[in-house]
Amino acid sequence: MRILLVEDDAQLGESLEAALRLEQYAVDWLRSGDPVRAALGSTPYDLLILDLGLPGVPGLQVLRQLRADKHRLPVMLLTARGTAADKIDGLDSGADDFLAKPFDMGELFARVRALLRRKGEHRSSQLFAVGISLDPVDRVVNFEGAPVDLTAREFAILEILIRNAGRYVSRVRLEEGIYSWGEEVESNTVEVYISRLRKRFGSGCIETMRGVGYRVPAQ
Ligand code: CA
Repeated sequence: MRILLVEDDAQLGESLEAALRLEQYAVDWLRSGDPVRAALGSTPYDLLILDLGLPGVPGLQVLRQLRADKHRLPVMLLTARGTAADKIDGLDSGADDFLAKPFDMGELFARVRALLRRKGEHRSSQLFAVGISLDPVDRVVNFEGAPVDLTAREFAILEILIRNAGRYVSRVRLEEGIYSWGEEVESNTVEVYISRLRKRFGSGCIETMRGVGYRVPAQ
């Protein structure tokens, strides 16, 4: 799951980014509203967390533009004021949820999960392949009926492969799924995670085609 965070307050932005990463989301953080449209055009996100008071394009205008572009991404607004009028404006402009600062991180996480779950309901949320069932919202993996603990990156790679079961996925696409912007990509990372996943689920669970990528067999 990849989240775009737009927040100009350096301290809040940093702590939100760190906390969301600990919760195993890939997070990209923008400090202003101006580059949001370009970011949404180039990277597939599952959720946008958007501050209302931003330098440059204000949050509400970013949100209206996004809905005018027919973007259906779930949006959670953050605001310092939290008046009823702000809330009504935000929801009328197409926000899915609204949180007034200061807020409790636990509440934010619960609301993020609720939005992702609601989004997941539109496309059956549970994924299945090669004896593995994976729930991308509750972040649970079962193999042959028993729960399996995976690290955030193992989970992310497995999710991408299972979503594309039967099709080869390139190494670059898998790297995009596990690295946030600006993080240094180590050359053999994907291979390391693939090898760990094979140890967990059996060597046949992921096939390699040299120069093309990796796939989980469809059946
Ligand atoms: Ca702000």
